[in-house]
Amino acid sequence: MNDGNTTLNELKEQVHRLCLRKGWGVDGVQNPQQVAMAMTVEMSELLEHFQWLNPDDVRALMAGGDPERVALIAEEFADVMMYGLQLARTLGIDITGQVLRKIDIVDRRPPKPYNPKR
Ligand SMILES: [Mg+2]
Repeated sequence: MNDGNTTLNELKEQVHRLCLRKGWGVDGVQNPQQVAMAMTVEMSELLEHFQWLNPDDVRALMAGGDPERVALIAEEFADVMMYGLQLARTLGIDITGQVLRKIDIVDRRPPKPYNPKR
């Protein structure tokens, strides 16, 4: 399974089956308030891998010069996504529909003034 051959619904169900196997939540459904809070904790863990990087470090990261760090970032990204998928499944959020809706909203929004000194 990879991004090219897996649907978001299939991923939602994979995460749900993990919750069932682990005995998390009620019938594999965890409290969405707690899931949202856990998502921010995982987001902080992801950010930790960027903490104290200088612009050259980030450029190297983007150029493939730090695969070990990218692997750690990918792991935390997966944690964030798994909570997001769980939240979407529990609340009946259609991820594709909502992302496309948001793209449309942002597309229509006038550009914000850019101030590089901020
Ligand atoms: Mg984590």
